[in-house]
Amino acid sequence: KPKAIVIGAGIAGIASAIRMAVKGYEVDVFEANSNAGGKLAEIKMNGFRFDAGPSLFTMPEYVEELFKLAGKKPEDYFDYIKLKEVCRYFYEDGLRLNATANLDKFAKEIEEKTESTAEEVERYLKKSETIYEVTHRVFLERSLHKLKSYLHWDTLKSVFRFGQIDAFRTQAKANKSFFKDRRVAQLFNRYATYNGSNPYQAPATLNVIPHFEYHYGAFLPKKGMYSIVNSLVELAKELGVRFHYNQKGEEILYSDERKPKVKGLKVNNIIHKADVIISNLDIWFTYKNLLKNIPQPKKLLNQERSSSALIFYWGMDGNYSDLGLHNILFTEDYQKEFSAIWKDKTISNDPTVYINITSKYIRGDAPVDSENWFVMINVPANNGQNWELLIKEARANIIRKISRILNRNIEKDIVYEHVLDPRSIESKTGSYQGSLYGNSSNNQFAAFLRHPNFSSKIESLYFCGGSVHPGGGIPLALLSAKIIDNEIDNLAF
Ligand code: FAD
Repeated sequence: KPKAIVIGAGIAGIASAIRMAVKGYEVDVFEANSNAGGKLAEIKMNGFRFDAGPSLFTMPEYVEELFKLAGKKPEDYFDYIKLKEVCRYFYEDGLRLNATANLDKFAKEIEEKTESTAEEVERYLKKSETIYEVTHRVFLERSLHKLKSYLHWDTLKSVFRFGQIDAFRTQAKANKSFFKDRRVAQLFNRYATYNGSNPYQAPATLNVIPHFEYHYGAFLPKKGMYSIVNSLVELAKELGVRFHYNQKGEEILYSDERKPKVKGLKVNNIIHKADVIISNLDIWFTYKNLLKNIPQPKKLLNQERSSSALIFYWGMDGNYSDLGLHNILFTEDYQKEFSAIWKDKTISNDPTVYINITSKYIRGDAPVDSENWFVMINVPANNGQNWELLIKEARANIIRKISRILNRNIEKDIVYEHVLDPRSIESKTGSYQGSLYGNSSNNQFAAFLRHPNFSSKIESLYFCGGSVHPGGGIPLALLSAKIIDNEIDNLAF
């Protein structure tokens, strides 16, 4: 059997391993950490369980299709629910909005509580759908770097409709024109942060993101986000994939012909031969560490990185009925917050706070009468800032903000704490500067400035994951594995 090696067991690495095994390859996955999942990780401590990385699950069909591809029933491995309530939004002036999956109800609530109308919301979500229709086949599901993608009829149709994707104004500017009430515009500006970007710079094309959440829905795996990893690893193992943990890929080896071809991977000074190699590492480290001797695509590698995160995992002694699974406590001045992150590379003193509490649904995630809080703010990627000081100040500001908005002193309830910051995100997941989503999408050309899913220099070398095309986030990382799958021929037995 021909051999495939996958370097890194992040979500896209696992998906690639499954796809290669289904194609008939013998597959080995080398992972630097002691477990699979990369950014999709979990922490279990003092009776609390936390999903350490992603907390919002969208497009579950991209996970399910991996089971189906292998001829299995997804529900035998993995179960999830569709959320009726998507997110609770809190504003400093006392406004509270509850984004429900029932769009009519959500639009009506906006009309009742703000100066915006239900019609504004409907018009905005219609636009979001249009952008999705025009972009998804071209920007998300195909390689942008192969001529054949452009010769496709769907692509041509989309090209004729490019005027509709709103690429020539910023998201914040577009949303100001959609919504009379600035707080509603702020709610929809937030979607730029779903890929670590700045709504005051990113094109309004990012208004496509709410379409995923409001039209397709938001979901929660019944055993938490990490069960996505567990169930996919189980499937991969059943298909014969071998996982090698604590095995850091050191160098990708290739032949020295005119058009070189991959030969293998060096790990701990041992060479493992391969006919195909798929790297799931951050593309920046793939070139810096594993492909040192080939010309580096400097322009792509030096693009501005997406933002990072500062996360407090707090075990809370108490129940907070005002909060749901996903909660956003908005800053009063969004522009100031983004300017702090992107211009000053620091943290504003009134950051928007995201709180995720899975124990609202998964009781076993926290002891009785306790809750597991994942408290996150967006912060700049790591450029050597004084993080100790920034974390100390941010912690105090976050506690003050939550206590103020919930009208309750929360600090005394914190019985367990663990902290993740851009430095530890980089060291734990191999993400350059600790950015969460690879490059930022802060300009119109960002989609074209992500590395392709294949190497144009070395035959049979591919790249998957959130730092390459089509981008970051679980759904897009899974699509990168699918694009590679479509590029590699099935073996004929
Ligand atoms: P990664 O998770 O980046 O994993 C790469 C793997 O490669 C790691 O396991 C690493 O150890 C391994 N590795 C690195 N170097 C080597 C080497 N030399 N040899 C072998 N192995 C190596 N997405 C969402 O969809 N929804 C969310 O709500 C969301 N929130 C997020 C919150 C946080 C705090 C973070 C960190 C991310 C979030 N994301 C979210 C983004 C999402 O987690 C990522 O886009 C996705 O998990 C990236 O997967 P990946 O396949 O690129 O691999």
